[in-house]
Amino acid sequence: MLFCSKLGFIVDILKIDTCPLCGGQQLEHALTCTDHYASGETFEVVRCAHCGFLMTQNAPVEAKIGRYYETPDYISHSDTQKGMMNRVYHWVRQFMLSRKASLVKQASKMSTGTLLDYGTGTGYFANAMAQKQWTVKAIEKSPQARAFAKERFGLDVDAETALPLYEPQAFDVITLWHVLEHVEHLNEMWETLHKILKDRGVLIMAVPNPDSYDAQKYGEWWAAYDVPRHLWHFRPSVMQQFGAKHGFILEERIPMPFDAFYVSMLTEKYKGSKYSFIKGMLTGTCAWFSALGKKERSSSMIYVFRKK
Ligand SMILES: [Zn+2]
Repeated sequence: MLFCSKLGFIVDILKIDTCPLCGGQQLEHALTCTDHYASGETFEVVRCAHCGFLMTQNAPVEAKIGRYYETPDYISHSDTQKGMMNRVYHWVRQFMLSRKASLVKQASKMSTGTLLDYGTGTGYFANAMAQKQWTVKAIEKSPQARAFAKERFGLDVDAETALPLYEPQAFDVITLWHVLEHVEHLNEMWETLHKILKDRGVLIMAVPNPDSYDAQKYGEWWAAYDVPRHLWHFRPSVMQQFGAKHGFILEERIPMPFDAFYVSMLTEKYKGSKYSFIKGMLTGTCAWFSALGKKERSSSMIYVFRKK
């Protein structure tokens, strides 16, 4: 148990003593990161000495982490257009929606089919796919976000408890856009996704990349460590190993270099930089060029998996 002085409540913590990827028990100190977004608390990020997986140590357990999301401007779940940074975020979101839709089509080689969007947030992507005649199921743990998706798009979004209830081989495509890093029961999640995906289906996951140019530049300040909301920090090699462990073959890796602009601006803001927008844009530009030469340097990566 841990008492959080700023948020003023008691939380249960997730103490990791075994690497969920390889079972290694030698976890070394990697970084000390601060929760600049909600609590101001610091969290240790540890690295498995055997496989290199990076994990947030002593994060609140899933049942208790909700409060760390509760500030009015958690933009992944909001629709506010206030401020330059949010405006950029929303513009990029529109752009990414169409890129994601074409990626689904290209990766699945299907124009329509059944799709599950896990961690759909306010439902923008699920709605975009429904508009393209896909049969869409969506899951979101935040009741507020589910209510938003219902009101704005008429989407019936399921709670997380629905996941194990879907039929085996129910989906042609499963997407997790920046979700896996939040999931507490990681191995169970991979197993369930394998079960409910069709044999010829595709699993598409986007996660921040701690090997990226911007992560290396900013170190512990890198906003996409986003502790304690991000429990896991997936390097490209780690994603491939997780897939292999759970019966998937990594088919493709697609860089998301535009994320570097937003993440860098947010990082500069957290650092209290005077010209956070301009500095963030500059770093974003450098990161973008860096990822052109080597996609493993991209701020976030999309991974496309197929069943073995
Ligand atoms: Zn490990």
